[in-house]
Amino acid sequence: MKFGGTSVADLDRIRFVAERVATEISKGYDAIVVVSAMAGKTNELIASVTGSSTFYDAREYDAVVSSGENVTAGLLALALQELDIPARSWQGWQVPIRCSSAHAAARIESISTVNINLKFAEGMKAAVVAGFQGISAEGRITTLGRGGSDTTAVALAAAFQAEQCHIYTDVDGVYTADPRICSKAQRLDRISYEEMLELASLGAKVLQTRSIELAMRNHVTLRVLSSFESVSDASGTLVCDEEKDMESKVVAGVAHSRDEAKLTLISVADRPGIAATIFGALGEAGVNVDMIVQNISEEGRTDMTFSCPTDQVFFAQRALECIKQDGILNYSELVADTDVAKVSAVGIGMRSHTGVAARMFKVLSEEGINIKVITTSEIKISVLIERKYMELAVQSLHDAFHLENVGASAVEMDTGLC
Ligand code: ASP
Ligand code: MG
Repeated sequence: MKFGGTSVADLDRIRFVAERVATEISKGYDAIVVVSAMAGKTNELIASVTGSSTFYDAREYDAVVSSGENVTAGLLALALQELDIPARSWQGWQVPIRCSSAHAAARIESISTVNINLKFAEGMKAAVVAGFQGISAEGRITTLGRGGSDTTAVALAAAFQAEQCHIYTDVDGVYTADPRICSKAQRLDRISYEEMLELASLGAKVLQTRSIELAMRNHVTLRVLSSFESVSDASGTLVCDEEKDMESKVVAGVAHSRDEAKLTLISVADRPGIAATIFGALGEAGVNVDMIVQNISEEGRTDMTFSCPTDQVFFAQRALECIKQDGILNYSELVADTDVAKVSAVGIGMRSHTGVAARMFKVLSEEGINIKVITTSEIKISVLIERKYMELAVQSLHDAFHLENVGASAVEMDTGLC
């Protein structure tokens, strides 16, 4: 069971969580409970670090930022003990959860089940584990990147071969679109790992992307649930292997991401190695490039457009200016457009249905929305558009793909084109 920040925001909420854990234990389970820091705490800790030092030591960043989870783990163990449940807290290093030494973005390398299982054998019923953290080979505390407690939970579920992995949060499941901007959004009963992976990396924030990859690889079935409502076996959204009938839904959801930027390098040489140079430099600068478009070349020169998160534009500009100054890459101008958003339609049914892209572009054009960049994969279509049209685009695509009906029986898509 994993509880996010809003689920453990104060002592009352922690008591409520303890009761939820007690209910599962009364069914005969032992529970491993992963907790996040109290809502807002991690941001506060990050602000203390950046307020103390501009070019901070990432190892100390992790030492500070991981502490929020330690507090909630201890408090939840206390709340469980108040309910007469044998419980204790575990920090990442105590389990131990061994991680790479990429501070602030560490990967879990292995989890030992020995210490926790020993305590279960002695009668402990709940192991409360601080999420988001582990220990490196150098013996230093590491964190797994923002939202990393989801990954801790899935990794523990896989290591302990848990029967179930429940991710409790402040929404009651995964929706066809963000209900805050699309009032017709519906909760999905189930969604495949692949669709969830696309939705999460395209902007849906309910699960950390890495946790879904990990669940997919280890066949950990996840249930995303609300910790604010009473739950039954049918509550929430199941994230699981794809089922036969899932393909009849062409589009499972519409995702959006507000914080996108589009950068264009004007007039770079069109010859082998140029893309490698550009994206090599961006990769080294830690820029997460998403879409890439190379234009038709004229007289041996071409324009190269790519997108990245808004808060990485500065790093991208600096990296590209550097290689220009060093004479490694020649271009006439670097144009940044930071007023864009990305809207995507996702669904495994796209593999077997045609006309989805055309349908999507038609809907956007009917709303007068200009598409700046397009990318596709087997199961998603993404477009970059002007940010002010983002909400409208999500709503009209939700309508066009009849996503208000997904709760009911599967909908056959009429592309309206053939
Ligand atoms: N507390 C960490 C964060 O806010 C990890 C988590 O909540 O998953 O990113
Ligand atoms: Mg989260």
